[in-house]
Formats: sequence, structure tokens, C-alpha cells
Amino acid sequence: MKKEERRIRAELVLSNFGQVVTLSGHSSEPCIHPSEDSLSVIQNSDSKRIVIASSEGRICYIGRESDIRQYVDTSSAIEIDCKQSLVTPGFVDSHTHAIFAGSREEELELKVKGVPYLEILKHGGGILKTVSQTRKASDEEIIEQTRRRLSRMLASGTTTFEVKSGYGLCVETETRLLEILSYLREVKGFDIESTLLSAHAIPEEYKNRRREYIKEVVKETIEIASKRRLATFCDVFLEKGVFEPEEAREILNFSTEKGLLPKVHADEFSDHGGSEFAARMNVVSADHLLYASRNGLEALARRKIPCVLLPGTSLSSFVGLYANARELFDLGGVVALGTDLSPNSWIESMQFVISLACYGMRMTPAECLVAATVNSAHAIRRADDVGSLEVGKSLDAIVFDLENYREIPYRISSDCIKKVIKRGKVVIDRDLGTRSAGNHYS
Ligand SMILES: [Zn+2]
Repeated sequence: MKKEERRIRAELVLSNFGQVVTLSGHSSEPCIHPSEDSLSVIQNSDSKRIVIASSEGRICYIGRESDIRQYVDTSSAIEIDCKQSLVTPGFVDSHTHAIFAGSREEELELKVKGVPYLEILKHGGGILKTVSQTRKASDEEIIEQTRRRLSRMLASGTTTFEVKSGYGLCVETETRLLEILSYLREVKGFDIESTLLSAHAIPEEYKNRRREYIKEVVKETIEIASKRRLATFCDVFLEKGVFEPEEAREILNFSTEKGLLPKVHADEFSDHGGSEFAARMNVVSADHLLYASRNGLEALARRKIPCVLLPGTSLSSFVGLYANARELFDLGGVVALGTDLSPNSWIESMQFVISLACYGMRMTPAECLVAATVNSAHAIRRADDVGSLEVGKSLDAIVFDLENYREIPYRISSDCIKKVIKRGKVVIDRDLGTRSAGNHYS
């Protein structure tokens, strides 16, 4: 057998980039105190032309262009000429409520006028409206509306999504939402991690029967999700007037027994001990944390629990306050970012969230990029597979119409993406840099 026949056969080769941010070295442990050094930036130059190749969707080579043919058979590979652009890993959005029906744009005027959320809720708006629209919608309607949202998110660079249920609030619809997420993953190819969030709110029909809701709906859905493997995580909205710490503990202990990993919405509207609770429960991630105490943040940092910060919600809810990212970094915490896309806060773009993190929470461009990729992957236990560009991992990448990573937060709300690559396939292509198979490497 000739030597080259044993080489790995590449399907895609990315070449001629200006700068590539690999974020390598953080797959087993999240990145604490991110700096430019944490990004593993490769600046291409004529003397050191680096290429990235993938085989069966996984990265099989990162190295000098001049050496690739020793290791990899590129004769049938598609070559992407990145034309001296910036390349980063695809974004990981570790907190979304992206599955629901309808919308609530009519509430925006009320929010602008300062009408309190509880007032909106009293008049049948807020979450209750989305629950009613979602329950009434057919599977096809929910699939189509969610698919379009996920497609727009993908087009703005998100290659892996965490999506929570939580707009059904009854066994039937919560299960239906998780089934639809499985369909969107298995049939439509979106890389989704599903989270069961039946403990999102207490629906009208259980208003004065909290105990019954937890037993008849939350626990029942956990049982179904566990038996049918419909979700990886179970989340609870721990907040004054929503779910109390004792209730959250009962729900998360039950879900852990059933094999669903715990997450928590903590200290979003008030300091309700959510961050301390999250640390004690050793959750997979603690999210929001706007009003978290220093003690709570310290406890999370000590346990290296990813803290998913969601600056988009601060903006869309007019709260005028962001989570204290700087304090978290000082304490050695693990900071991740998500959109928190929901009918209340319709933000699909991680590029926009990165800008907000920078301008709103004073996170540096390097901290933002770590938080939106590899640390976000840790927040959904996927860092072995996505979040950085390393041999063995999925080739999920963004080719920007930019030269260096600092421009991502700097260019507020400019969509500067040329291509998005998921599992070694170009899924979004806005320029004509793709050459036909093998013409360069054969
Ligand atoms: Zn949320």
C-alpha cells in the first residue's frame, strides 16, 4: 500500500486567512481570567501559512500549508479561500428560550412608557400570552417559527444552541416542545441542547395550587423527558414570587435523580439567594445573576460553575443594570454569554450580545470571545466537541469580513459574517470565495 493511501481524506480546507482565533487549550477546563494569550491567535504570514482541514466534520489538521499533504489527502477537498479574513470558532449560545409561538411586539410601547411587567401580566400579556399562543399552535407552526429563528441565529454565527421549553406549562405542550426540539436537531440538523423548563412560571389554572403544579406538571414532565431522553438539562426560574429555593431544590434533586443535569435562573430581579443556591447545588450553570451578592458570586467562582450572563435582557427589560462581570472576573469566575432570546427579549445575534457585553459590562474583546465560545460550551457541557478550533473537534467556524477579533464588539450591530461552517460544511455563504473541489491541493 502506498503511503498516501493511509492519509486522512479531507473534505474541507480553510486557507489564506489573515487571523485565526483558535481558543485551543480550554476543552477540559473553562478559561478563567481571559486575555489575548487565552485566545491562541494565529496571525498568518507568507513565511507561516496555516490551514485548517476537516474530515467527516471534524478538524483533522491545523498546521502549515506546506506540510498538509504529508498527513492529509486533500485531492477531493473543497478549499475555502478566506482572503486574509478573520476566522473564529462558531458561537455557542448557552441560554435561549427560542421555542415558542407568536410574538409580543405590542408590549413594547407599554415597556417604553414604564408600565410594570406585573401590570402587563394582569392584562393577559407577558408570559401568559406566549403560553396561550404556544398551546394553541400546531406542531407545524411551532416548527416553522422556531426553524426560522434558529436559521437567523445560525446566519449570525451561532453554530450550537441551548434551547429551553417553558411556554407550555402543561405536560402535553412541554413534552411537545421537547419533541419538536428533537425533530429540529435530528431532521433539520440544528445542533441543539434541550433544557426542560416547566418551572418557568405557575400557569393560571394552578394559580393557588403550587404544590400540585410541581407534582402534576413539573415532575411528570421530568419523568417523560428522562424516559424518552428528550432533554439534557432541567432548569428552574428561582426568583421571589416565582419558585422559592426549597421548591427549586426539590425539583432539581428530582431531575438529577432522573438523569437531567441542573441549571438555574438566579438573581435576575432581586437577590433571592439564587447564586448561593446554585453553588450549593453544584449546577451546570447559573444564569442572569444581575442582583447576585458578592458572596454568591464568590461561591460560584470557587466551584468554577459557569455563569451565563445575558446583557441583552438588561437592555430589553429597561432595568438599567448589568450583571457584575468585572467582579466575577476578579473573583476568578467562569463567564459565559447567551442571548436569552425570548418573546420578551427578541435578540438572535451573539455578535450584538458581544458588543453589549463589551460596552455594557466592560468586558474586553478577548473576554467576550472566550465567553461566547469555549466558556459557553462549558455551560452546556459540550466543550469536548465545540467552542474552539482544535484537532478532533467539530469544524464549526465563522469567516468574518473583518481582519481581527477586536472588531467583533467594536462594530456594534454590523453583521460582518461572510461564511458560517458547521460540522465541516458551509451552511451560510455570502461571498464567492469557494473554489471547486481539489483544484489547489490535488
Ligand atoms: Zn432565561
